[in-house]
Amino acid sequence: MPCYRCERVQTDPGKGSSPWAVAVVKRNQVLVCPVCQQEHPEWVEELDRCPHCNSTRLKMMLGSVICKSCGADS
Ligand SMILES: [Zn+2]
Ligand SMILES: [Zn+2]
Repeated sequence: MPCYRCERVQTDPGKGSSPWAVAVVKRNQVLVCPVCQQEHPEWVEELDRCPHCNSTRLKMMLGSVICKSCGADS
């Protein structure tokens, strides 16, 4: 899956945690590359937020948005 802002493709996932961010925008799961995270710090403002705890740590599962912080399913 490419970066949703610049279409850059993740080349080498490598070992350990990836510098790529996983987020949900308009109920679509997206990836954001490290370059966009650095050059466009406002990217986080475009993310969907949990209606319960306002966290942006969301993931899509079976068409639902699941909050990784509080577990809310919306
Ligand atoms: Zn990018
Ligand atoms: Zn939450």
